[in-house]
Amino acid sequence: MAEKTSQMELSSSQRHIILKTTRAAFDLWATNSSLTFERDSLNPDILISFREGRHAMLYSRRNEPCSSAFRGPNGNVAHAFFPTGDPNFVSEVHVDKAETWHIQLTKNPPGTYNLLQTLTHEIGHALGLPHTFREDLVMFAFNLL
Ligand SMILES: [Zn+2]
Ligand SMILES: [Zn+2]
Repeated sequence: MAEKTSQMELSSSQRHIILKTTRAAFDLWATNSSLTFERDSLNPDILISFREGRHAMLYSRRNEPCSSAFRGPNGNVAHAFFPTGDPNFVSEVHVDKAETWHIQLTKNPPGTYNLLQTLTHEIGHALGLPHTFREDLVMFAFNLL
């Protein structure tokens, strides 16, 4: 079942599912690289947030407008910032709150976006990976419209 996360506060069970799905996305990268990840909300290297419309940066350039606004449902569904090499830089991943997200780890029903697949792709960017042109790879730009 798809959870519509837009325009409502997340319930604690939805938060729990989203955290689990986020962990699964990081686990995919950990399994396929020599990297390890742990959750540290006070001192993150990668910061993931749900945002809507025109939105601001949360961390590195706090309150400065993000360079790409979301355009509502079925626009670009998420974006991420490449690391700059600055040790204090926090790679932000912004996910469009206006989309209908399938937050569970199962296959998403038609008309919903798969949060695991999207986060895995955006975390790849936050780690510095560009797009690939191979459709079967997670860094394929399936979300580019
Ligand atoms: Zn943004
Ligand atoms: Zn991308």
